Amino acid sequence: MAVIENMHIKRNILLNPGPSTTTDTVKMAQVVPDICPREKEFASLMKGLREDLVKVVHGSQEKYTAVLFCGSGTLNIDVCINSLLPDGRKVLVINNGAYSARAVEICEYYSLPYIDLKFPVDERPDLALVRQVLKDNPDIGLVHTTHNETGTGILNPVREIGALAHSYDAVFTVDTTSTYAMRPIDIEKDNIDFCMASAQKGLMAMTGLSFIVGNKEIIEASQHYPKRSYYCNLFLQYDYFEKTGEMHFTPPVQTIYAAIQALKEYFEEGEHEKWARHTRVFEAIHKGLEKLGFRNIIKREWQAGLVVSVVCPDDVNWDFEKVHDYCYKHGFTIYPGKTSVTDTFRLCALGAIDENDIEDFFIIFKSALEVNNITIPVFYND
Ligand SMILES: *Cc1c(COP(=O)(O)O)cnc(C)c1O
Repeated sequence: MAVIENMHIKRNILLNPGPSTTTDTVKMAQVVPDICPREKEFASLMKGLREDLVKVVHGSQEKYTAVLFCGSGTLNIDVCINSLLPDGRKVLVINNGAYSARAVEICEYYSLPYIDLKFPVDERPDLALVRQVLKDNPDIGLVHTTHNETGTGILNPVREIGALAHSYDAVFTVDTTSTYAMRPIDIEKDNIDFCMASAQKGLMAMTGLSFIVGNKEIIEASQHYPKRSYYCNLFLQYDYFEKTGEMHFTPPVQTIYAAIQALKEYFEEGEHEKWARHTRVFEAIHKGLEKLGFRNIIKREWQAGLVVSVVCPDDVNWDFEKVHDYCYKHGFTIYPGKTSVTDTFRLCALGAIDENDIEDFFIIFKSALEVNNITIPVFYND
């Protein structure tokens, strides 16, 4: 195989919540001889990839499987919700942020019966209330929530919610898109039936590949549930993999090569070492922000350790776009917020970066404030 080495690719530091900064080896893994994905060689690559995706969350290969799809992470939420609800049952969405709200919209689009159990975006769900709703609605068949609400960075207590879901005979699906392969997850101990992610987030690979890791028995049972989508049906895709080793329709070929390389690097770095690195980055972000006087929207002890949601200062000269553009010109990407209540922006600890990158970032960020005449330390009117 021809190998291209030492190609210089500009290194950008992405502090947005995915896609993340990737290593050059992952970028270059996409440059491969052309191959038809219907070849046995490609099927065997996907088999290894699927097994590794189960390993990341410590699932047993007998009980759990990974099902791949071509698309962005939202597709996983769509697939889980439309495929895993038995006839005559209801969805319960535990909703304290933009990504769980997306699951509610999916229920609406498929006209599924659902309960939208809303909590404030800066608070954790009240478990007593979750229990009460499950008790009062024995027809709930699927409970869904988000592990790390990427819009704010709040961590939800999935192990506890999963235990409640299971005690009321419901399947538990968790949007782990912004924790998978970052914050350690144990699918069985965390009481998760289905989790999900896309390759460009925690795995630090490329966009276009999404995957659901979940319980095989439940997928098998779901073949008898109402079929609400064709392209996005979990059993159909799973069954095709089981029978042929292939994706039902054309897979994102080069993206899969990158994901395989990223998984190799993931296991080489190690789950705990990688989490320690993200934590270093997260702490460095906090340290830099504190020095400049910025406030967080979420209580520090509730943060998942990956997204810092920062309250925009009240300075009349504050202009997110201008600050963004200055940082972007210097190779650093910052991201707007996703809460309707407060004006925020976000800095995230995803990707192949370390604390020295954050120190470099704050040099640029500080000059972005200075050139825009924003007072340092920044101030708030209350
Ligand atoms: C990134 C992300 C998604 C997927 O969003 P896309 O825009 O489809 O890539 C879903 N859920 C969470 C929690 C995320 O962070």
